[in-house]
Formats: sequence, C-alpha cells, structure tokens
Amino acid sequence: MKNVARDYEALDKKYLWHPFTQMKEWIESPQLVIQRAKGAYLYDTRGRRYLDGVSSLWANIHGHGHPTITRAIQSQLRQLDHSTFLGLTHLRAVELAEKLVQMTPPNLTRVFYSDNGSTGVEVALKMSFQYWRHQGRSFSRKKKFISFTNAYHGDTVGSVSLGGVDLFHRIYKPLLFKTLKAFYPSCYRCPFGKDPSTCGIYCFEELETMLGRHHQEVCALVIEPRIEAAAGMLTSPAGFLKQVETLCRKFKVHLIVDEVATGFGRTGKMFACEHEQVCPDFLVMAKGLTGGTLPLAATLTTTEVFDAFLGGYAEFKTFFHGHTYTANPLACAAAMGNLQVFQQEKTLQKLQPKIRYLGKRLGDFWELRHVGDIRQAGVMVGIELVLDRESKSSFPTELRVGHQVILEARRRGVILRPLGDIIVLMPPLSISQAELKTLLDVAYESIKAVTEGKQTTGNKRK
Ligand SMILES: *Cc1c(COP(=O)(O)O)cnc(C)c1O
Repeated sequence: MKNVARDYEALDKKYLWHPFTQMKEWIESPQLVIQRAKGAYLYDTRGRRYLDGVSSLWANIHGHGHPTITRAIQSQLRQLDHSTFLGLTHLRAVELAEKLVQMTPPNLTRVFYSDNGSTGVEVALKMSFQYWRHQGRSFSRKKKFISFTNAYHGDTVGSVSLGGVDLFHRIYKPLLFKTLKAFYPSCYRCPFGKDPSTCGIYCFEELETMLGRHHQEVCALVIEPRIEAAAGMLTSPAGFLKQVETLCRKFKVHLIVDEVATGFGRTGKMFACEHEQVCPDFLVMAKGLTGGTLPLAATLTTTEVFDAFLGGYAEFKTFFHGHTYTANPLACAAAMGNLQVFQQEKTLQKLQPKIRYLGKRLGDFWELRHVGDIRQAGVMVGIELVLDRESKSSFPTELRVGHQVILEARRRGVILRPLGDIIVLMPPLSISQAELKTLLDVAYESIKAVTEGKQTTGNKRK
C-alpha cells in the first residue's frame, strides 16, 4: 500500500464536523482514514484491514464493491447521470418501482422516491396528513401521529418529532410537533414491571386504550416493525405488529411501517412485515435499498391513498413535495443491481444458516457477567452491557464502556459502532461463516477485555 502524501487525519480534524460525534473527543483521539473497501472489509490509509461489523451503518448488504452493483452504476453513468423527476421520467426509476411494488405487500401499488430514511418518513407523514385533509369534514380532526417510546425515524424535524430517544431528541423539543407516545413492547426494561411470558403483550392493551380515546385526532401510527434499531436493538414479541395492524384498521388510522433499518433481508425476510403478513398503508425503505452504495429512499403506498390526491389541477390536491435528486438514475440503477444480486446469489436462502449460527454463538456471551441482555432479529444484534446483571443497572456514562469495547474491537481488526453501552452487530448479509466467527470472537474478546479488565493481542497487520 503506497503512502498517502497528505495527512488526511489532520486535515479532517481541521475542516470537518462529523455526525453524532463529540468533536472535541474526535480531535483529541487517533482516527482511522478509510481508503478502500472490498467484500466485508474496509482498508485504512496504513493498509490495515477491518471487518465491517455494522455494514457501514446498516446499509451494506452484499459486501463492498460488488461487481454487479458496480457495473450497474457504471453503465448507468455512461447513459444518464441525472435528470429531474419533476415533469420527466426515466428508465431505471420505472423499472425499480415495478420491482418494489412486486416484492412488497400486495396492497402497496405506488412508489414515491426521496434521498434518505428521514425524508422517506417525512413523505409518509405528509401524505397521510394530506390524505385526511382530502376526506372532508368528518375527518377534519385527524392531525396527529402516534409513535412509540424509544422510536427513531431520522433526524429531520418531522422525523425527530416522532422520535423517542431522549439523548438525541430532548433538546429539540420546542421545535417539534406533538405526537402521542405509545409503549413499544421491549421487554428487558418493561415500563410496567410485567413479566413478558405472562403479560399477553400488555403494551397492546395500552395502545388500544389510546386509540379508542384519540383515533378521531390521529392520521397515522408510525412503527419500526419487530425491532427498534437505533434505540438499542429493542426487539418486540412476535404477533405485536399484526395486532397493531388490526387496531389501525379498526380505528381508521394509517399504519406507517418504517423498514429503513429492517428492510432488505435484515430480519431474515426481505421485509419485516412479511413475518406477520402485515399490509401497511405506507412502507418506508432506504438504508439497504442500493445495497449500501448510494443514497436513495422509497415510500410505498396504496391505491386508495394515491387516488385521494387525484383531481383537477385547480383543486390543489397535488402532493407538493419533492427533492432535487428525487429518483436519481445512478441510485436507481444501484438499487436494481442490489435486487439482481439478491436473486442471482439466493442471498435470503443463504442467510438462514448464518442467522442460526449467530443465534447459537450469541448464547456464549452469557458467560460474560456484564452482559445484561442479548437481542437478535435475523442479522440485527444488540448486546447490552450492564454494571450489574441482577439489577440491570447501567455503567456510569463517563466510563464510555460501549465506546471502549469498539476501540478494543478495532485493535483486533473489526469496525463496530455501539449505541451507548449496547454493542451492535450488523454484518453484511454476504458475510461468510468464517468471517461471522471472527466477528463474534472479536466482539466476545473485546467485551471481556473492557468489562473484566483482561488484555489480549493487538491488531494484526495484513
Ligand atoms: C436510519 C434510520 C432512519 C433514518 O435514515 P437516514 O437515511 O439516516 O435519514 C429512519 N428510520 C429508521 C428505522 C432508521 O434506522
């Protein structure tokens, strides 16, 4: 690996501001500069190799630099780089929309593109809100949204309004619109102090009461299906999503399913909705849509919603929303490449034994006494570290235990990104069994080194 003449680390620290990053700490500590990537590995400017244990923030699906996706982007670039989607259309956007409609629940028939998960959610919110405006007087009170405790739907002001991660969202409260907060059935720290094996999903009863009382004011309910990802991989019991769907139908409230994290195989099926045959009114996808190569999101909805926006121009039923790069052709081509790889490599089929292996090996982590909980949905994993397993008490924030663990993992050649003291494992779906073993071994050793004060070997040069 040839030396990089410029000191990129120093220049970064001089010019840049990183997302979700305390920049004082960033500037004061050594940082990695990534130069290239291949398959499940990232390579830094010093030629060191790292396993990408969180899929470059949950986006990468088939590994980096997959030839099929690379070729799709290259050939699109030669044909059409970008053309507006306001008043024009193009080939890749049409082809992709057809595919997305075919592969999602049967009631979803229309695709609206945007650039990222946050905007994809905003689109669903605005469409639902406007849909109810078009329904006339009897629904004129429907102006609110229900979202869940600990929810994360993105960082724009609308999606933050739905959010429930106090650490990220509290400070912006004066800027936000009010939402109704329902309890997400994440059972490790039950807000009602109930036992999940006997409570019969008590959160559902709470939600039913809320809807019974407020449905006339509610446009839509927004949910992360099966697992609240950014909250710390909080899994919910099987059956809850279906119950939520039934309630939404009963009370005439739209169901918006945010599959930004769970989509594209993460939970073992293409979309988490499929586990319970749920047919939402809106389905939002982003992160994995292009296989983790380019920014693109899609909000899918029903014929019923779509038709409510049809009319003469002067009726002003148009959906007045769009982004400059809506349906960017390169991103659509990348997404087509992504779907092609799913098919040609039987990605979902090959994923099943990996999910089972992951589940089996995660059992070993209970040997570590500071592991409080282990949560898994497909290849989405959260290992929660606690000071005391019995009382579930957290480590003092200033110890930065989760952060220390990922620094240990980095020395051992694995890139992770924790959520507080929850260690997240979310490898590319294409990861091999041997690489998966390395990921688990390193996570285990790193947790052990930090929480039990043991030292082990440093990063090996490759
Ligand atoms: C990441 C994420 C978002 C936001 O997506 P961005 O592309 O980062 O804006 C929204 N919802 C969920 C469930 C997510 O995990």
